[in-house]
Amino acid sequence: MKFDASSYIKEVYRLIFGLITLFMLGFITGYFWAVLAVGLFLYALWHLYHLKVLIHWISSSELSLPPEPWGIWGDVFHYLYRLRSQQHKRSRKVQSLLERYKEATEAVPDATMILGKRWNIEWLNSKCKSYLGLKPRKDIGKPLTHLLHSPEFIAFLESFDYLGETRTLEMDSPDKTRHLSVRLIPFGKRFLLIARDITEFQQLRDVRKDFVANVSHELRTPLTVISGYLETFAEYLGNDEMYAGSIRMMQQQSDRMCRIIEDLLLLSRVEANEKNSHQMAMVNMSNLVEILKNEALAMSNGRHQISVDIDKSISFLQGDESELRSAFTNLISNAIRYTPDGGAITIRWYRKGKKQLCFEVEDTGEGIEQKHLERLTERFYRVEVGRSRASGGTGLGLAIVKHVLNHHHARLLIRSEPGNGSVFCCEFNEQKFN
Ligand code: ADP
Repeated sequence: MKFDASSYIKEVYRLIFGLITLFMLGFITGYFWAVLAVGLFLYALWHLYHLKVLIHWISSSELSLPPEPWGIWGDVFHYLYRLRSQQHKRSRKVQSLLERYKEATEAVPDATMILGKRWNIEWLNSKCKSYLGLKPRKDIGKPLTHLLHSPEFIAFLESFDYLGETRTLEMDSPDKTRHLSVRLIPFGKRFLLIARDITEFQQLRDVRKDFVANVSHELRTPLTVISGYLETFAEYLGNDEMYAGSIRMMQQQSDRMCRIIEDLLLLSRVEANEKNSHQMAMVNMSNLVEILKNEALAMSNGRHQISVDIDKSISFLQGDESELRSAFTNLISNAIRYTPDGGAITIRWYRKGKKQLCFEVEDTGEGIEQKHLERLTERFYRVEVGRSRASGGTGLGLAIVKHVLNHHHARLLIRSEPGNGSVFCCEFNEQKFN
């Protein structure tokens, strides 16, 4: 919006006309200077008066109609009124947008908050009160780490590496009445934290876990009995051509069932352990890698080139030794099973960046297509079912690895290309957990 210059020019004309009138009046009356001074004084007074009216009108918060004086002041008031009413409309629009945004965030069923530097709470919705015990008015501006004291949660925040990746943590609400899935999403220099109530989902998951654990446990005894009898049959009838084939087949299948049940039971144990850390100790990685290498040599039986590359300066990792051993053994056994004879397998233990420690198994095997990578850690997910079964796989190895790593707040990174081998890397945070 432009100020009309013609009103300014008119005012200049008016001033010139006024001055000429004053000069003439001064000459006629013989009091030239006095008439000029009185005229200019009255003119200044007129401006001062309208300036006062303007200040009064502009300082009122309400948008009232402006006074309508004569001359340039009329145009000034008119121009300012238009400007103010436009601003008023704009701020009403922003206000209503903000209201709608607030209503929308309140309608979100999840606790949502924006965190700034040093985890300071910049904004939070009312669900944060029931889910996390935070007070929307009182707690804004305070660091979240001072309000939520769960060591697991603080470790989760501190392990955040600012690489722009979203991270998720499952934890109990501070009053222990809910189970929450907390997502931390970085944007710009801030974070969006979303806590979702997954209590029901957690209960269903517990029922499923218990069911699988119980069924596996119940099947173990009858299967041991069947295996025992099969051994006896094999002893007595193993040389009889009529039965030998079927007995061998039955033994193979019962062995496979035993392996599946053992893996299911191991998976249940690891899942149950995920919530606590009482088994955590300092694991001597140099020793463990040495044991794993010997196991690998025995498994491969000379069919592969097996090498080890470890950083001796990092001898210890805080964790559950038997779980870590199961996870690492699964990765090595996969590398051996899915790498053709003559291939190479490398086991590595090294530091990555400032905070990460990695246990890695690389093979020159058949590799995996990109589309499968995301689903590999699902139970019973196999790229090729026949190949997995033939090599003695249960389809549970990588699911076990995933849960062991979850328990250690670590993650599994997989790089693979068909025909170019695979790299399975377990990435641990160096700092203590829990
Ligand atoms: P399995 O007992 O079938 O090996 P896992 O959970 O250990 O089950 O692995 C899931 C699938 O991932 C396997 O069936 C296989 O297709 C693929 N896989 C795992 N490790 C490798 C590897 N090193 N090279 C190629 N494929 C692999």
